[in-house]
Amino acid sequence: MAKPVVAIVGRPNVGKSTLFNRLAGNRISIVEGEPNITRDRVYADISWLNNAFIMVDTGGLEPSNDDLIKNKIKYQAEIAMNEAELILFIVDGKSGITTIDQEIAQLLRRTNKKVILVVNKVDDFSNAEQLKWDFYSLGFDEPVSISAEHGKNTGDLLDIIVDNLPHIPNDNERDDLLNIAIIGKPNVGKSSLVNYIVGDERVIVSDIPGTTRDAIDTIVEKNGVKYNLIDTAGLRRKSRVKEAVEYYSVLRTIRAVERAEASLMLIDATEGITSQDKKIVGYAHESGKAIVIGVNKWDLVDKDNKLMEDYRDEIYYQLKFLNYAPITFISALTGERVDEVIKLLEYSIDQNNMRIKTGVLNEVLEEAILLREPPAVKGRRLKLYYATQVGIKPPTFVLFVNNPDLMHFSYQRYLDNTLRKAFGFIGTSIRIKLKSRK
Ligand code: GDP
Ligand code: GDP
Repeated sequence: MAKPVVAIVGRPNVGKSTLFNRLAGNRISIVEGEPNITRDRVYADISWLNNAFIMVDTGGLEPSNDDLIKNKIKYQAEIAMNEAELILFIVDGKSGITTIDQEIAQLLRRTNKKVILVVNKVDDFSNAEQLKWDFYSLGFDEPVSISAEHGKNTGDLLDIIVDNLPHIPNDNERDDLLNIAIIGKPNVGKSSLVNYIVGDERVIVSDIPGTTRDAIDTIVEKNGVKYNLIDTAGLRRKSRVKEAVEYYSVLRTIRAVERAEASLMLIDATEGITSQDKKIVGYAHESGKAIVIGVNKWDLVDKDNKLMEDYRDEIYYQLKFLNYAPITFISALTGERVDEVIKLLEYSIDQNNMRIKTGVLNEVLEEAILLREPPAVKGRRLKLYYATQVGIKPPTFVLFVNNPDLMHFSYQRYLDNTLRKAFGFIGTSIRIKLKSRK
């Protein structure tokens, strides 16, 4: 099913590309305070609360050989009216209605598509209601006030957008191929695990290791889900130089992790955590994708229940930065807990793609601040105004504060833990960015 299209329309300088970049989340980097953000992209795939749509910034679409601004805008509005299911008509709350706004409104009123009027640059919400009234004369439903630059109310705008779209499952709803990178040092059991999972299942594609491949992809269908198991063992390059071998294995891991939605990090139960393990899983952590740790060769270990707990504690102690990754104990030889590891990977992928509604997010944070006040630094206290989620993979939040320098490491960790307690985020890192708001 094709994803619905949402078009952004409006005269120059109202903040279309700022909004586009904001909604497209962390995939496009924004240089703060820099005017004339370059329009290197006009389309973005957005997913929000299990809905997926394509956003088009029509400001980036220009008719060839026509310099008249009026014609450009007419061209953009027509594309929107023809191609989009939903149109966001952006106006500037600072400058009020202009004649060009009225002309665009006139064009858009002719479409039977849904139009949402968005009043941008409402940086100060204390007079947002007042400002809205001026724009009713354009002839659309109640305007939505936002500040694209400061990310204010943009989460609510996304809620309104998806409420007005037909529901299309996003990429993460199990109908697609799930790419899983199986990483870990040589001989930990990566290939054995792939072989076990494949078992009697139907293998759809399996690459024959060639000279240029650095990982082997095996696509297999299990319980109606298609998995691509990326085995980074791949082709063992023969080299007399130890550094070269190491270099290729690092490259293999990074490439596989980049392609995957989740990484399964294998650790050898008979060896414990080595410095090589730390390095390898560090790349997966940095990618921000989902991670599950599998302690393999568990069949070789003398078992009693206590040992598993000790093992877990030891891993979290050695790999402190991975305290969010679930750990399970498997055997690629006997198949022990292999099904569980697959379920954990799927669950972690969902968590890595989770979106929290702006309203709920702020409720949770407000309560956390009431329970524990931010610390004061040299008599100045950190003030938290509000938060919004700006991205997924990993879930990324922007916290607007009076002064980011007043944030203390321990308080940031407290907020991190608060979000985890409230929302889970099992198997995924989360990022909290601070921005100052005057
Ligand atoms: P476009 O031509 O409609 O794509 O507009 P841009 O996104 O390039 O934005 C035009 C100018 O408005 C830039 O200098 C932005 O920084 C500024 N701008 C965009 N959104 C806001 C906002 O919410 N508040 C304020 N104060 N300025 C904004
Ligand atoms: P890779 O280099 O990470 O792909 O590791 P392999 O899959 O080639 O496994 C290396 C060796 O460990 C082989 O001899 C496997 O038979 C053995 N091995 C892998 N997984 C297990 C396991 O779960 N239990 C035991 N006992 N041996 C295993």
